Amino acid sequence: MKKILITGGAGFIGSHVVRRFVNKYPEYQIFNLDALTYAGNLENIADIEKQPNYTFVKGDIVDADFIHNLFQEHQFDGVLHLAAESHVDRSITDPMAFVKTNVIGTVNLLHAAKTIWKDNSEGKRFYHISTDEVYGSLGAEGLFTETTAYDPNSPYSASKASSDHFVRAYGETYNLPYVLTNCSNNYGPFHFPEKLIPLFINNIIQNKPLPVYGDGKYTRDWLFVEDHAVAIDLVFHEGKNHDTYNIGGFNEWQNIDLVKLLCKIMDEKLGRAIGTSEQLIAYVKDRPGHDLRYAIDATKISQELGWKPSVTFEEGLEKTVHWYMQNQTWLDHVTSGAYASYYEKQYS
Ligand code: NAD
Repeated sequence: MKKILITGGAGFIGSHVVRRFVNKYPEYQIFNLDALTYAGNLENIADIEKQPNYTFVKGDIVDADFIHNLFQEHQFDGVLHLAAESHVDRSITDPMAFVKTNVIGTVNLLHAAKTIWKDNSEGKRFYHISTDEVYGSLGAEGLFTETTAYDPNSPYSASKASSDHFVRAYGETYNLPYVLTNCSNNYGPFHFPEKLIPLFINNIIQNKPLPVYGDGKYTRDWLFVEDHAVAIDLVFHEGKNHDTYNIGGFNEWQNIDLVKLLCKIMDEKLGRAIGTSEQLIAYVKDRPGHDLRYAIDATKISQELGWKPSVTFEEGLEKTVHWYMQNQTWLDHVTSGAYASYYEKQYS
């Protein structure tokens, strides 16, 4: 029996990872540690909460004593660390929340692992899940590789870059067995509707404007979240110690083209004339420090571990739209209360 701690398992990507691990590895005991911030929602993992190999722990990774005691009590064999403040716009209005959770919270976890595992870290693994945004912005050409220099531009990416550096520092200084991945933009079911794709799906359903930043020419690489969960599973079990892998969808889209594709899929789903939803597009003032282009070279994980995305963008978007339309109650729950007032502040 292996004891695995997954942090942030009530969030978007974390919920897919928890589901996969609980269902695929009945011999593991999975502990899901989550503070249930505005982004954490236990409804995301309601289907597995009764499984005998699953335990939910509500707690804050910023609380060092709590984290140390948790490690002491359960003697985890592995950690998959996904808990984070994850929204760039929020990092611009409240950077300190990002320093606390993403930097201090990560160091608390690293320190507890290092202290509890001490010299007996054989077979143990600390897996830090990070973003391609740490690399900064690309021009029209080139791709981020694992050796691209860090050049973060937003408080979010700066906090993630800092946490990545601490992970490597614990690896070098204390020989903590770690593995780290930097992934491109994810999309799919259970994505909190402050992020572009679910925000726009929800707005199209409700006939609300679709706020596109700047000229809409920003380019991102998109990956279906379940393909990210498969990659995380592979890297956790087969990735090389003290190593980094980039994960991406080989799937670059300018925002405006993505929005138009989404509008077309939604028009078809809603039985509206093609072109109806596009009329909701509203260009809004650009985000400060907005990175022009992110694009991942995922050759290493593909060649070393045999991973590649299983769905095309069109297939993944279709599945995502279908899921949101079938799960209106989930959408209603997460778009009420705290999120609703935040939304008003950002977009009114
Ligand atoms: P999310 O915001 O949906 O979920 C984050 C989860 O962490 C939530 O459940 C929240 O309650 C929890 N959390 C926040 N602060 C906490 C704290 N102090 N203590 C304990 N729990 C806390 O985020 P996500 O999109 O699922 O991202 C997960 C991870 O993957 C993050 O580290 C993010 O940087 C990284 N990542 C995300 C993307 C993406 O496109 N979403 C891409 C690459 C990497």
